[in-house]
Amino acid sequence: MTDCIFCKIANNEIPSKKIWESNNLFCILDIEPVSKGHCLIITKKHFETLTDVPDEILSQILVEVKKTMNLLKEKLNVNNFNILQNNGKLAGQEVNHFHTHIIPIFKDDNAHIICGKSTSKESQNIEEIYEKIIKN
Ligand code: AMP
Ligand code: ZN
Repeated sequence: MTDCIFCKIANNEIPSKKIWESNNLFCILDIEPVSKGHCLIITKKHFETLTDVPDEILSQILVEVKKTMNLLKEKLNVNNFNILQNNGKLAGQEVNHFHTHIIPIFKDDNAHIICGKSTSKESQNIEEIYEKIIKN
């Protein structure tokens, strides 16, 4: 995609702080970090959201998340993390090229991910939602 910032980084058209790369993925430091060491694992090819990513690449992502967490544990002496994927604009996705956030959480750093609770009444009707999801 020509005007996608992560495609441009993947093609080395704009600079980044690259931590590692593999055949299908690469990892960079986030330019506006939520916390020290906040990084992103990004697919080299342009996919918009998780459901667009082929299974083979998807299964590599979690393995690389684990390796990267271990790297940050060792290098930054951190043991708590939020792992986050925003899928779609309403869910907070700003860059429409699939990526996974690895956000180290340090004591007394005040960085944290808060998931706000829906104000819609329907969301609390667990019976109805459950029936909708499991019904053929
Ligand atoms: P999201 O809201 O999940 O789409 O997150 C996009 C993330 O990409 C944000 O945390 C941005 O700070 C980050 N970001 C945007 N442009 C760049 C860039 N050029 N290099 C590194 N990170 C970036
Ligand atoms: Zn892209």
